[in-house]
Amino acid sequence: MPFISKRVLGAVVLALALPLAATACGGGSGGGDTIVIGTKFDQPGLGLKNPDGTMSGFDVDVAKYVAQQLGYSEDKIEWKESPSAQRETLIQNGQVEFIAATYSITDSRKEKISFAGPYLVTGQSLLVREDNTDITGEASLQNNKKLCSVSGSTPAQRIKDKYPGVQLQQYDTYSACVEALKNGAVDAVTTDEVILAGYAAQTPGAFKLVGGTFSEERYGIGLKKGDTELQKKINDAIVKMETDGAWKAAWDKNLGPAGLPAPTPPKIDQT
Ligand code: GLU
Repeated sequence: MPFISKRVLGAVVLALALPLAATACGGGSGGGDTIVIGTKFDQPGLGLKNPDGTMSGFDVDVAKYVAQQLGYSEDKIEWKESPSAQRETLIQNGQVEFIAATYSITDSRKEKISFAGPYLVTGQSLLVREDNTDITGEASLQNNKKLCSVSGSTPAQRIKDKYPGVQLQQYDTYSACVEALKNGAVDAVTTDEVILAGYAAQTPGAFKLVGGTFSEERYGIGLKKGDTELQKKINDAIVKMETDGAWKAAWDKNLGPAGLPAPTPPKIDQT
């Protein structure tokens, strides 16, 4: 076998290792001048990437506020799309510093990651076409109805556990579910009320929410498991945002148009 110099070998090892060094802070440049934040890109009112490339929504505003408190101005944020089923993995792999993406705090997720918050409490609901009359709540889905939700989400899991007979189709995103509802491929979409209200407001007259809310979803900010220092900083930022009026302003701006009055922010309990 031909002789390979230590230098060549070293260069090869370095070339292989470099891409792995690209972490959520500093983009691998060793700088630490940017921060990668995960959110949704297709949920109006919460996390939305607009056609002009800008980001908007309540989760986006919470994330921007937190980033600011951590020392990152808006232009230092790199947004990473974080579909429901990929969130824990993105955090565990260090591809994002934190995730604000309609992310419910649950015990099973806490086995893999940690949460700051909660910063919002909502509940699971149903979205149907405006002219629908026979879907009135979760139990009526058992009448041979096609229901859409998203893989890796708590609402999909809840339906599987409670109503195993319901024809549940799991897509990657809620916007794909809403598209399927629009064209008649499914009869209803289930997820959190705030998310569904955002879609309903986007296409006035097309859809309606039914069945009230039938779970408690407490939104937290996901971060690397056991990073108590970051967790505390984020908790402090959330409290500050709630106290100085920015939380309510963000709600009114993003979810007010969907007809939802601002609730009282929940007490932080993730420590
Ligand atoms: N809050 C629920 C969850 O974290 C549903 C919303 C979502 O999938 O992002 O699973």
